[in-house]
Amino acid sequence: MSGQPGLFLDRDGVINHYLVDSVRSLDQFSYYPFTAEAMKTLGQLGWPLVVVTNQSAIGRGWTQQAQVEQIHQQLCQDALSWGAPIASVEYCPHLPDAGCRCRKPGPEMFERAALAHDIDLGRSVMIGDSPCDIEAANGLGMIGIRVATGRGLVPLAAGLAAAAEVADLREASDWIMNHGGLK
Ligand SMILES: [Mg+2]
Ligand SMILES: [Zn+2]
Repeated sequence: MSGQPGLFLDRDGVINHYLVDSVRSLDQFSYYPFTAEAMKTLGQLGWPLVVVTNQSAIGRGWTQQAQVEQIHQQLCQDALSWGAPIASVEYCPHLPDAGCRCRKPGPEMFERAALAHDIDLGRSVMIGDSPCDIEAANGLGMIGIRVATGRGLVPLAAGLAAAAEVADLREASDWIMNHGGLK
């Protein structure tokens, strides 16, 4: 696959506070204190920024597509104000056992964004807090960076590995910059 590197970001537990029962509406959506600064740094890469998030709360009936999209509209507006315009937000609304190809670690959200924004996944980075984020990164040949916020570095299954495990999104942005923006 040709194209430019992309930066993929999980949402809950990375950009905004994670809630065990899921973030269901805009009033439950709140950033970490470091989010704006970290996103500003990531924006300087000049890569397409893509948010990829599993939102099975929709499939469970805990929230609705309109509420999720309202959150994403706010996120895109805020990210733009931080100097980190988001190319697209991809979300999977399905239940974990639905057998879809989009729920992480499935590849479909990444493939969709790669096509839309001319991204070479093999030159791309994924930042996430969940094992499924690292599994997706490993499966697609992306560099996977895991943050300790959100789910808190729960053990990875055998055979999975993150390129780096860092405290939070700010450290992840520093890691990427210290590696020269990578390949
Ligand atoms: Mg997460
Ligand atoms: Zn899905």
